[in-house]
This record gives sequence, C-alpha cells and structure tokens, in this order.
Amino acid sequence: MHEASIMESALGSAAAEMRKAGAREILRMKLRVGVLSGVVPEALEFAFESLKGATPAAGAALEIELMPAVFRCLDCAAEAELKEMAFHCPRCRGCLVLDHGGNELELTQLELN
Ligand SMILES: [Zn+2]
Repeated sequence: MHEASIMESALGSAAAEMRKAGAREILRMKLRVGVLSGVVPEALEFAFESLKGATPAAGAALEIELMPAVFRCLDCAAEAELKEMAFHCPRCRGCLVLDHGGNELELTQLELN
C-alpha cells in the first residue's frame, strides 16, 4: 500500500526530528496532503494507527491538512480552488488548467515532549 510507505517515512523523519530536539516522544504530527497527490487521507490515517505502535509516536495524534488545487479558466480567467481534479470552469464551463498547488505531501508540524 502506497500510504503505508509514505507514513513509514513520515514517522521516520518525525523520530529523527525528535532525537535532534532531545525529546522522548511525539505528541502530535501534522501532515499537509494535496488533493492531487494521489494519497487517500483515510488510508494514511489507517497506516498511522497500524504503524505508530513501535515508534516514539505511539501516543501521538495525527492531523491531516488537505490542500486544494488552484485552477485557472482559459476562457474567463476565473480562479477556482478545488478539492478534486476538474476540467470545466464552475462559472462559465470553460476550459480549466491547473495553476498551482494540490501536490503537497509533507510533514509540517511536530509537537514533542
Ligand atoms: Zn470560466
């Protein structure tokens, strides 16, 4: 499963940060996940619950921040922030192109003890 290996590496970098900071456990982790990254948040949560037991994050809470993608309409120039892939402008049904965002996949916050 894709999400399991992503979570394994997130837990690994969280543990490395923890050691660097001289802390003993991870209380909270925040991951930023773009809607076009191909990652399913529910699967990520499931991977977290099944993998965290043997790590310093055993008692940690996971927060997933879902990042929208920003599209631009080629016809009316409107910008649309969407939570899924789309090809038609919500305003004029024109042709949408991806402008930026949506591919994020990173550990953005750690709370340590
Ligand atoms: Zn449009």
